Amino acid sequence: IPVPGLPIRPRVLAVANQKGGVGKTTTAINLGTALAAIGETVLIIDLDPQGNASTGLGIDRHSRSTSTYDVLVGDETLAGVTQPTAVPRLFVAPSTLDLLGVELEIAAMKDRTYRLRSALSELADDAEAPAFTYVLVDCPPSLNLLTVNAMSASHAVLVPLQCEFFALEGLSQLLSTVERVRTGLNPQLSIHGIVLTMFDGRNKLAGQVVDDVRAHLGDKVYKTIIPRNVRISEAPSHGKPALLYDLKCAGSQAYLKLASEVIQRERALRAA
Ligand code: ADP
Ligand code: MG
Repeated sequence: IPVPGLPIRPRVLAVANQKGGVGKTTTAINLGTALAAIGETVLIIDLDPQGNASTGLGIDRHSRSTSTYDVLVGDETLAGVTQPTAVPRLFVAPSTLDLLGVELEIAAMKDRTYRLRSALSELADDAEAPAFTYVLVDCPPSLNLLTVNAMSASHAVLVPLQCEFFALEGLSQLLSTVERVRTGLNPQLSIHGIVLTMFDGRNKLAGQVVDDVRAHLGDKVYKTIIPRNVRISEAPSHGKPALLYDLKCAGSQAYLKLASEVIQRERALRAA
């Protein structure tokens, strides 16, 4: 089968970790908002059947007549399902629970691992669509075909790791999946970085976890650490990114720092 190339623009990052509750969706929403705030044009692709990124960006279930499901299974385009959000320059391609069935529905297709990649390639060529500079793919908590679709469509993977005792557990599985996708499906794929999330300074163990993770993964770990912050956990129930809900809170400020670090790494990659 002919495999479409990755677009030069936008840059596509998969936010992935097969563990649930580590901060993937929170990172996709708030990093996306922070990037948009500093002038990037950003699309968040919700690939989780739970649709938390869509809800957290204020797209309620009733206003998702088409979704990423239709893009992966049918012949809807990404531009066709994309919706604006309350944040200027931030858009979302929402998901619905239909995504639960995708694995079975595309299993027999020859291009089953490249469904998202084809859709992104089409989007990059679409002169009518917003000129996205970044795409963040919010992955489900699993290493299934949806996550493989995200990785085979991405330039790099951004991994949120929760600052807890078992943080590193399961990471080798994730890294070997990245490696398999790189060798088999997408030679351009790299690890963009690992972001430590939900850091609680009052918990002595948390500092130890940070040291451990840095010892294992070195400068793949972003300098920015996302603190545990109640404003961040409240924001989704208001259908808003934390940066809109409370820009001054420590969590929002950390995501702004992460965004500038992501952009710095992008510049370094381009110069290399
Ligand atoms: P995932 O997408 O990996 O399953 P989420 O981003 O949905 O994880 O986060 C899991 C839960 O933790 C959510 O209720 C979210 O609001 C909360 N959460 C995430 N990051 C933070 C943070 N920095 N501070 C406080 N709560 C957080
Ligand atoms: Mg999630």
